[in-house]
Amino acid sequence: MKYIGAHVSASGGVENAPVNAHTIGAKAFALFTKNQRQWQSPPLSDKSIQAFKERCEQYGFAPEHILPHDSYLINLGHPQEEGLAKSRAAFLDEMQRCEQLGLKLLNFHPGSHLKEISMDECLSRIAESINQTLDKTQGVTAVIENTAGQGSNVGFQFEHLAAIIDQVEDKSRVGVCIDSCHAFAGGYDLATAEGYEQTWKDFDRIIGFHYLRGMHLNDAKKGLNSRVDRHDSLGAGVLGIGFFERLMQDPRFDNIPLILETPDESLWPQEISRLYELAAAR
Ligand SMILES: [Zn+2]
Ligand SMILES: [Zn+2]
Repeated sequence: MKYIGAHVSASGGVENAPVNAHTIGAKAFALFTKNQRQWQSPPLSDKSIQAFKERCEQYGFAPEHILPHDSYLINLGHPQEEGLAKSRAAFLDEMQRCEQLGLKLLNFHPGSHLKEISMDECLSRIAESINQTLDKTQGVTAVIENTAGQGSNVGFQFEHLAAIIDQVEDKSRVGVCIDSCHAFAGGYDLATAEGYEQTWKDFDRIIGFHYLRGMHLNDAKKGLNSRVDRHDSLGAGVLGIGFFERLMQDPRFDNIPLILETPDESLWPQEISRLYELAAAR
């Protein structure tokens, strides 16, 4: 069964996210557990944590279908010690918030070498950041997202994600989230039937479907291998509705959160119901 949702607002408190998800007809959702553009946020209150748990229960959202996303400021592969330490501390805080909320996944962008260290060195730093964080926490899986490869971001090839996983000590608490827009921008031709098959064959060989914990469902504004991260609404971009149809009819994507990060939030209810229709057509 497919679990489709969107990255909903947690404005006013994390406990509002399950309500916002329910309102748009979602069976899964993503959220930020703190302000994503600031280093510091006040801790979650007991009241907020309690209300979040109650509402998830009330609306039927299980922890494995909730995919919190970390702050955009964090760079777990930072070339400089100060930036790296700051990122690691913030990432630990993000993971502890997930623990407090009873969540099982934390989705993050791997990092950037900022043209100061090699790709391999950056990937090793990211793995070490994950190891340090997993050592200090329990029950939450670090879910690495593939990137569009914009600027000096690493993680746009499956090999990059595999190299990180390879250096993570506790393999039971590391996974990946594949963003369809990022994959296309990173050179994986998900727009055609042949490209679709080949991409997932490569994914399974290089990473393995058993590491897949979620997907971000975005159409892409820019062309194949553009290395530019610009999401588009479903069917409005260069991936096209055919890709989403194939994905919805593919059982390899059952039982994981499938999260829209498409730019027009007003379309989310329609996009979600369209995807459920495509899934039901199989
Ligand atoms: Zn994404
Ligand atoms: Zn993106």
